[in-house]
Amino acid sequence: MAIRNILKYGTKSLREPSKEVHKVSKKITELVNDLLETMYSANGVGLAAPQIGVNYRVFVLDVSSNDEPLRPMVFINPKIIKKSGAIISNEGCLSFPEAYTDVRRYKNVTVKALDSHGRPFVLEANGGTLLTRCIQHEFDHLDGILYIDHCINRFETNETLAKYNLPPIEEDKLLEEPELEEELKND
Ligand code: ZN
Repeated sequence: MAIRNILKYGTKSLREPSKEVHKVSKKITELVNDLLETMYSANGVGLAAPQIGVNYRVFVLDVSSNDEPLRPMVFINPKIIKKSGAIISNEGCLSFPEAYTDVRRYKNVTVKALDSHGRPFVLEANGGTLLTRCIQHEFDHLDGILYIDHCINRFETNETLAKYNLPPIEEDKLLEEPELEEELKND
């Protein structure tokens, strides 16, 4: 196990799509262990492989609170098979130190993935919980999508990015989300 360097926004591999894992080999087990160790050492709740420069479809998360035992979760080749509802989520990212901004997310998602032993599982995360939001955030990293691409207010987001010496939003990456916008309007 090793603590790996977390790539910061502006690094090319954060924008590159990641490859499927064909076999949960020793190399992938090491990757999972490194992701967990790196995430815990950075006090993060989630970390995706491209954030440490490895473009494989793997992410880890742990949404347990400080007074609870650790609850590491591993997602290999995840697929979001159901999504509904909308919420506004205030998010940050280990690749964007301290830069929190409001983004649009689904309120409920169901994800299918392999665990660290290569066993398939299905997880339903409803109600816009930290787990629900974290799954969507980490899943996006595997397609080179970043949370700022979902931002509600691009001016505020750019101000925040500038404050923390990060590059501005990439306008051509901003996502159109009419479905989520409509749902949020009706709330
Ligand atoms: Zn992130």
